[in-house]
Amino acid sequence: MISFGLILASACSFAVAHPTTAPRAIALVPLGEAPAAEVGALSPILRATFGAEILVAPAIPLPQDSYDASRRQYRSAAILNVLSRARRPEWERALGVADVDLFVPDLNFVFGEADSRRGVAVFSLARLRTSDEALFARRAATEAIHELGHTWGLSHCTDPHCVMWFSNTLSESDRKGTRFCPRHEEELARARGR
Ligand SMILES: [Zn+2]
Ligand SMILES: [Zn+2]
Repeated sequence: MISFGLILASACSFAVAHPTTAPRAIALVPLGEAPAAEVGALSPILRATFGAEILVAPAIPLPQDSYDASRRQYRSAAILNVLSRARRPEWERALGVADVDLFVPDLNFVFGEADSRRGVAVFSLARLRTSDEALFARRAATEAIHELGHTWGLSHCTDPHCVMWFSNTLSESDRKGTRFCPRHEEELARARGR
């Protein structure tokens, strides 16, 4: 049965990533009208978290086939397809940053979605907004790190303070923060060949 209305969820893909020795750049790809400044503001924390060069790629339009007019939302899987085609060989990962409401067919919306097989992920700023700028920035970083974690095959965590905790609500997301638990830290290092 498909439930709509109260479900808050992040859709995720759990296939195991293959170890990689290079390249090391993680590309942030602004999608559609996502503000460049808000995308660029993610760079320092992602650089510190992943020890990678972070670059902001040229923006790409939201694919027309991702838009569902009846739901007035964008299908995240169609955006992952576009990101996969845009991904360059020198990019270790590509993370799309949207500013529209995303969905997968069985859920009323998703914060983001990742595909470890293709090394791409997307998340949206749209539902993270608040008048508290510092909180907004932290939420964006939390979602970015969570979805990137999935691209290396990391699954959800039972530690409510690990960034890989599955958030049902924004308040859970705010509680978990941007850090990996020790187990996931290790798993991430292994998956990246470090
Ligand atoms: Zn997740
Ligand atoms: Zn964890």
